[in-house]
Amino acid sequence: MVRVRFAPSPTGALHIGGVRTALFNYLFAKKHGGDFLLRIEDTDQNRYVEGAEQYIINSLNWLGLTYDEGVGKEGKHAPYRQSERKPLYKQYADTLINNGWAYYAFDTAEALEKARQQYEEKGDTFIYNWATRNTLENSLSLTSEEVQQRLTRGDAYVVRFKMPEKEILKMSDMIRGEVTIDTSTLDDKVLFKSDGMPTYHLANIVDDHLMEITHVIRGEEWLPSMPLHILLYRAFGWQAPAFAHLPLILKPVGNGKLSKRDGIKLGFPVFPMDWTENGETLRGFSGEGYFPEALINFLALLGWNPGNDEEIFSMDELILLFDLEKVHKAGARFDPEKIKWFNHQYLQKKSDAELAAAFQKELITKGIEVASTKVEKIVSLIKERATFVADFWELSKFFFEAPKKYDEKAVKKQWKENTPTIVREVIEVLQNTSVFSSVALEEAVKNYMETKQLGFGQVMPPLRLALVGELKGPHVFDIIELIGKEETLRRLETILSFIK
Ligand code: GLU
Repeated sequence: MVRVRFAPSPTGALHIGGVRTALFNYLFAKKHGGDFLLRIEDTDQNRYVEGAEQYIINSLNWLGLTYDEGVGKEGKHAPYRQSERKPLYKQYADTLINNGWAYYAFDTAEALEKARQQYEEKGDTFIYNWATRNTLENSLSLTSEEVQQRLTRGDAYVVRFKMPEKEILKMSDMIRGEVTIDTSTLDDKVLFKSDGMPTYHLANIVDDHLMEITHVIRGEEWLPSMPLHILLYRAFGWQAPAFAHLPLILKPVGNGKLSKRDGIKLGFPVFPMDWTENGETLRGFSGEGYFPEALINFLALLGWNPGNDEEIFSMDELILLFDLEKVHKAGARFDPEKIKWFNHQYLQKKSDAELAAAFQKELITKGIEVASTKVEKIVSLIKERATFVADFWELSKFFFEAPKKYDEKAVKKQWKENTPTIVREVIEVLQNTSVFSSVALEEAVKNYMETKQLGFGQVMPPLRLALVGELKGPHVFDIIELIGKEETLRRLETILSFIK
């Protein structure tokens, strides 16, 4: 039974890389008929940010990444918030001390800083490990009486992992294959603090074990922690889960990881939803008008593809096709134009009724009340050119109000000496056409052009200018039909009196 977890720390808005981690966990779980858990890793109280947990939950809900167990959906391994599991961890730290895999360390921050400086002066780097631990204040260097004394006295301590010396540790990662490291280069990480709180490493391993996690799927930034985690499983005598470290998400241009600042600088969201921090609101994909399906599809292809040229996938198709072992090792470049393209594609797939309902909300805020059937018709004519519902107004405002000005360049180019005569004659044709439909009107105007031996270029651009104000928009006769006879004639008269 596959069981995976998304284990974010509530330290701020959930970055898009975290969302992709959640998605890949979700896809993997669903593909194998397994469980997807949400565990909140909030043991580091200095980094705790109010509202971040709710933001994570809202984002997962918005994206349809429904978890089977987790905060708010307590299953048999509850609670799922690490701060609420606090009493549980100490016994595991004790176990490691008792079996020789961990030790107490009493070094003060100042003492460690001093050691660091001394090493730096010699051009070396200080590492708390096999090479230095005997010269520092810990239960390996002090006598057991001294250690006991200090503990009884209530001296501050941390529990450190005793990283083995000179072991070539071979590990396997589902994406990277075999990974090897010499443990002599690693440090004795802190696992537990005397305030009773475990660090990330201990809590993460204990919880993954207790929650019966089978696969750990997380970002590449956690790859350096894999040796410690594997050794912790060994130290506890537990079977380690499989590991898969997902590639980084890279900046659109230049080197390095995509950051919050890139989004601000280049003007695109890097968060799923809006997030307010220090009085400043950072727009998220949802606030910018992206559809959750578009974001999911886009993120799924950041570091993975099914091996063909296809790009549009529903969640169900992704679940079917997803293969963790086909995830790439190399970083995936974030392309803000590509997500726009996906949004455009998904907008086209939506029904006119759904889009019209969304658009109508905006129209109402503008004080425009139009029958929904008409809005649907308008949407069907313009959506092809829209990426967001928010584009609709610019693409269609002439359906609701007469142009307030005319594109000067276009007027200069298209408005000829005989244009007023042509417009007058078209007015007559429109008045005399009994059926006011796009097809009938087009035929009538075409007949008129033939009789007068006029080309399209002489008739259509001036008409479009009169109706739209510029040389844009859908088929002219569709516009005419929708705005109606009276309004069309009024706009044609207006342009005649305006351009002299
Ligand atoms: N709490 C860690 C994070 O914020 C979890 C890393 C992991 O999945 O092990 O990403």
